[in-house]
Amino acid sequence: MPKSNRTYSKIYLDHASATSIDQGVLKLMNQVYKENFANPSAIHDLGVKSKNILENARAKVARILGAHTDEIVFTSGATEANNLALLGVISGAKHVVTTNIEHASILEMCKFLERNKKIEVTYVGVEENGIVDPQKIKKALRPDTSLVSVMYANNEIGTIQPIKEIAKVIRHYKKLNPTSKVLFHTDSAQAVNYLDINPTRLGVDMMTLGSGKVYGPKGVGMLYVKRGGALSPIIYGGDQESNRRAGTENVAGVVGFAHALEIVEKIKIKESARLQKLRDYFINRLSHSNILTNDGMILNGDAIDRLANNVNITIPKIPSDLLVIELSAKGIYASEKSACKSGDKKTSHVISAIRPDELDGSLRFSLGRDTTKQDIDFTLKALQSILTKLKKWYN
Ligand code: PLP
Repeated sequence: MPKSNRTYSKIYLDHASATSIDQGVLKLMNQVYKENFANPSAIHDLGVKSKNILENARAKVARILGAHTDEIVFTSGATEANNLALLGVISGAKHVVTTNIEHASILEMCKFLERNKKIEVTYVGVEENGIVDPQKIKKALRPDTSLVSVMYANNEIGTIQPIKEIAKVIRHYKKLNPTSKVLFHTDSAQAVNYLDINPTRLGVDMMTLGSGKVYGPKGVGMLYVKRGGALSPIIYGGDQESNRRAGTENVAGVVGFAHALEIVEKIKIKESARLQKLRDYFINRLSHSNILTNDGMILNGDAIDRLANNVNITIPKIPSDLLVIELSAKGIYASEKSACKSGDKKTSHVISAIRPDELDGSLRFSLGRDTTKQDIDFTLKALQSILTKLKKWYN
């Protein structure tokens, strides 16, 4: 386990929104900012040096993914990578398949495709446990489907989708329909810290990763595009990233991202096991707490097929935004839904997808490298006292 990043005395349980930056990553980036500021496209010595550093980082990322270097396109984050995956492959497309619990960077792009490109989108609904049935994906496929995009793990309820099985269903469909050109994309932004991210083993053609969720710098991400997958740029300008993403490369950011991924891969198995234990302890204590059990607390998402760091609950009758604010006043930082949609007053689309009548929203705790059992015990106590107070008003 790397040296603790903890620079604060509060309890941060919002790692699904953003992780802190690993101190080793930060140190390395500082060095690159100082010494390798030259433009990697410049042909003088300093430019060549920047280019080499960038390409070394690309090689590192490719090695971690078990991919080729020309399959990695660096972007400004997971949002851009998701947008690129959808908009970049759709020239001539007529139909896209996705699920109703994807991140806004997929769903809003789908709306754009429907509105402006006259592309039909099928939104496959997930089951009550927040997991999509691969057979439903199979049913949605059509001869003119050009892309299936299913997230690897959900950012709100942490459910892990059966990516390998969906890939199998798509492969089978293509075998029966040899003219089908359907590609399979997965948004792995939330999965990276805990799950296997080898695209070949998963059977995907494209995969999104973001640096800001892996203890790397924000504003960096990437799209893996399997060799042979034609991709048009969505940002026009220079010929960077092999003509797939214009703009001067974020060398320090990419170097930091690559190093952050390297650390993740090194500690993944041990850290996942540690967090899973802590997560189950947290859920178990919540389920046995008198105050919560009497109120009918609901664990959102599958109890087993969920990310090692995710606890997402609904406490009937108590508004979840109020709980987030009350917890924050006690120095505990949780969230009620995706940070990208926190200004939106509606219930989360993910909770609506698993329980259409839900009005009370949800409370998400996402644990991380610094989370300890003491943090969980303190949070449980705080929640108990907040609920004792709020119940007087909301019952
Ligand atoms: N995809 C998923 C599943 C996410 O959780 C997020 C961020 O929360 C994104 C995409 C977008 O990442 P970014 O805001 O870094 O572009």
